[in-house]
Amino acid sequence: MLELSRVSVDYGGFTAVEQVDITVEEGELVVLLGSNGAGKSTIFNAISGLQKTSSGIILFEETPIQGAAPDKIVQSGIVQCAEDRKLFPQMTVRENLIMGAYIHRRKRKQVNRSLEEVLELFPILHEKRENAAGSLSGGQQQMLAIGRALMSKPKLMLLDEPSIGLAPLIVEQMFEVIQKINQDGTTVLLAEQNAFAALKIANRGYVFESGSIVVQGSSEELLANDTVRRAYIGA
Ligand code: ATP
Repeated sequence: MLELSRVSVDYGGFTAVEQVDITVEEGELVVLLGSNGAGKSTIFNAISGLQKTSSGIILFEETPIQGAAPDKIVQSGIVQCAEDRKLFPQMTVRENLIMGAYIHRRKRKQVNRSLEEVLELFPILHEKRENAAGSLSGGQQQMLAIGRALMSKPKLMLLDEPSIGLAPLIVEQMFEVIQKINQDGTTVLLAEQNAFAALKIANRGYVFESGSIVVQGSSEELLANDTVRRAYIGA
C-alpha cells in the first residue's frame, strides 16, 4: 500500500532522514520506534506532504505522492494524526469531529454515519460531544484527535506518538483503540517511544537512529532483539 524507497529529508544543510526504505501492506499495523529526534515525525510529514523530500520515492497504492499537496494526499486516503493534536480548543467535540470530514462535506449522510461510528468507538467523546475540546483531559484530547482523523475515512492512518504524556492506564486504552481501528480495516503506521506496548499490537516494526533504519523485523523479532530490548524496552 505504502512504499518509501531511499527517502531523504534535509533541513537546510542538516540531513534528518537518510535513504530510508519502508513498506506497509494493506491491513498491517507497522510501528516506527526511535528516541526523540530520530526522524519519525519527519518521515510522517514527508508522507503527508507537509515536508519536502530531498530525494527518493514515496508510492501510495502504486502512485508517486512525494511533492503532492497535503490536501491531495488526504483525498488519496492518508491521514496524519500529529503529536501535538492540533485540535480547535474553542469548538465542541462534535464540531472538531465534523471538521475531520471536511473532504466529504458534501456527503452529509456519510458524515453523520461516520460521526455515529466514531462516537460509538469513543464513548467518552459521545458523553462530552457538546463540550469544548479545550476542556477535555489530555487522554480525551488524544482520543478526539484520533477520532477526527478517522472522520476522513482514511485507508492509511499515520499516528505520531499517541501515548505521549498520558497516564499508564490511558496509554493502555489508547493502544486498545488503535488495535481496534486496525482490526476494523484501517492500515496504521504508528510512531512510538513506548516500544513494548506498540510492539504488542503491531505486525512489524522499524527502529530509527539518527535518521536511518538500524533494525527492522516482525514484532516478535524486535521484542527478542537485544539492541531493541536494551535501548527501548529497558530489559
Ligand atoms: P520527536 O519524537 O522528538 O518528534 P522524531 O523522531 O519525530 O522525534 P524529528 O522530529 O523527525 O524526530 O526530528 C529529526 C531531526 O530533525 C532532529 O534532529 C530535529 O531536531 C530535526 N528537525 C526537525 N524539524 C526540523 C526543522 N523544521 N528544522 C530543522 N531541523 C529540524
